Amino acid sequence: MVVKDTELPYLRRCVELAARALDAGDEPFGSVLVGADGTVLAEDHNRVASGDRTRHPEFDLARWSAAHMSPEERAGATVYTSGEHCPMCSAAHAWVGLGRIVYVASSEQLGGWLAELGVPAPPVRTLAVREVAPDVAVDGPVPELVEEVHALHRRFHTGR
Ligand SMILES: [Zn+2]
Repeated sequence: MVVKDTELPYLRRCVELAARALDAGDEPFGSVLVGADGTVLAEDHNRVASGDRTRHPEFDLARWSAAHMSPEERAGATVYTSGEHCPMCSAAHAWVGLGRIVYVASSEQLGGWLAELGVPAPPVRTLAVREVAPDVAVDGPVPELVEEVHALHRRFHTGR
């Protein structure tokens, strides 16, 4: 599948949410859960500054979907996100049976940016969604928005 122009507003919203996380002193990640009919059902941004490092938006949206959606609704839903799911979030996404993932920047791109900035490697290995959840349909990166996401991460780690 390809990312359609009609999907760009969801991805722009993810970038806005990532910027909001950054403004709140958190790592810039944002995600939106969209139903099969195109309705935005839930959205969130990173909240790891709380001290709980599992508070990734994709993980919270997966748990939200399990609490509020039927298995059929989950399978038809799409999660849009500013950065590709980490292994924890990929696993949660697959365990609750959510549908497609569309990300702006790949984990590989993010890993490269953080290495360039001298940020220490995270405690969890960086893996593509397909390596963790091979049956989930995944699209990205989305070149139109990648530099915006890159800029947010640069600001988080360098303050400029
Ligand atoms: Zn994650």
